[in-house]
Amino acid sequence: VSFGYSEVAPEEKTKMVGDVFARVAQRYDIMNDAMSGGMHRLWKDQFVRRVKPRQGEAILDMAGGTGDIAFRMAKQGADVTVADINPSMLGVGMERAKKKGLDGLLWAEENAETLSFGDKQFDAYTIAFGIRNVTDIPKALREAHRVLKRGGRFYCLEFSTTTWPGFKEVYDAYSHKLVPQIGKLVAHDEDSYRYLIESIRRFPDMPTFKAMIGEAGFVQAKVEPILGGLVAIHSGWKI
Ligand code: SAM
Repeated sequence: VSFGYSEVAPEEKTKMVGDVFARVAQRYDIMNDAMSGGMHRLWKDQFVRRVKPRQGEAILDMAGGTGDIAFRMAKQGADVTVADINPSMLGVGMERAKKKGLDGLLWAEENAETLSFGDKQFDAYTIAFGIRNVTDIPKALREAHRVLKRGGRFYCLEFSTTTWPGFKEVYDAYSHKLVPQIGKLVAHDEDSYRYLIESIRRFPDMPTFKAMIGEAGFVQAKVEPILGGLVAIHSGWKI
């Protein structure tokens, strides 16, 4: 399998991403801590502070995986639907929810590009570390817009490109050399983590992605960089 995906057809990319997450599902949470030194927890906390989930709001957590974002929002009283293309990731998420005593969540197997939900169903749509894995990103953004109510909010947390001088070089060296090694040691899977790093490198930079959100129909698209944009929170409104 080649993990540089420039040369693969769209349907192959979708399958490849499926294989990667099926392989990493069981060790996904421990790997996030290992690779980010626990920092992903702070980024997720910051993300959910921006979303400001309210009691009784219907929120779609797309590419919700093992539930990190969904659990934070459910604890604040939102009615959360966790949707993900990968049943292995959802399976791990459901187990975790049970252990945490969070029983109000809905779990759905969905492709972000072709959602089965009707129009104008949700007050907010969140997607964390998910959009870069989607094959047709503009299509997924249009679907996000479609399923949101008027006045609905879109939030995306994703790795991006840091603009801090010097930091980018350090990060590139870390990600290309160390991340696959950590993947090998902790998850016994070097290739999957090579893919994940490659997908981060290929993701559009902050101004480009912000423009894509506008093109999907959202207004007041904005971006909040974290660590100079190593990670970024993009958001927009449906009016
Ligand atoms: N949001 C979770 C988090 O922050 O921990 C999980 C993020 S995980 C890095 C990426 C998730 O995106 C995986 O669970 C994967 O199955 C999902 N995914 C990839 N392509 C997708 C698609 N086209 N539609 C829906 N989910 C997708």
